[in-house]
Amino acid sequence: MRRMSCGRSSMADGNCSFCGKAASQVFRIISSNGAKICNECVGRCADMIADEYRKVAKDVQFPEKGDDET
Ligand SMILES: [Zn+2]
Repeated sequence: MRRMSCGRSSMADGNCSFCGKAASQVFRIISSNGAKICNECVGRCADMIADEYRKVAKDVQFPEKGDDET
């Protein structure tokens, strides 16, 4: 079967470069510079980053903002 190309560049098809799922298996695949990522992998990455950030943020002492002097 021949696929029609509609010229929409934001809607990528093909497979996710990270988990290999096809566009039909996931809600959305986003592509950039030849790499593709599906919404599930985006969610996983966001979770990982948020987790790591929380760990780092605990160790790092953020300078307190002094309101007394401007
Ligand atoms: Zn994926």
